[in-house]
Amino acid sequence: MRRKKKRINRYRYPKHQRRPNLTRDFNSPSYKRWRTAVFERDGHRCQMPNCGSRKRLQAHHIEPWSTNIYTRFLVNNGITLCFWCHKNINKKETFYIPLFHKIIAYQLLNKLKTLKNGHNKTKSNKRHKGKTRLDI
Ligand SMILES: [Zn+2]
Repeated sequence: MRRKKKRINRYRYPKHQRRPNLTRDFNSPSYKRWRTAVFERDGHRCQMPNCGSRKRLQAHHIEPWSTNIYTRFLVNNGITLCFWCHKNINKKETFYIPLFHKIIAYQLLNKLKTLKNGHNKTKSNKRHKGKTRLDI
């Protein structure tokens, strides 16, 4: 009698293909680059009003990672938050989107102002301040 072979579908859904849109590699080079760029733009400080902590910083996606494929690695879609502020906005992310966009817009405005004012005075210092470059 012929034995029925049991089909094993062990390899039908490889681990990395289960939820392709939600898997996030926090250690991938592009993710690391995005995170450091966000931190540098924000001066390594939590951007939540009345916080400004320098400890346990995290880069938060303003437009959610899962639903916005094209804004995942845009520096202006990220904001530096400390662990505690990040925890506080959990499940209220959409409510905070306009606030975070405003914070970044003001930040850019202030940077532009200082660049404009400092243009004539500190021409020689320009080369040393590599971090004043705007990541728009
Ligand atoms: Zn904070």
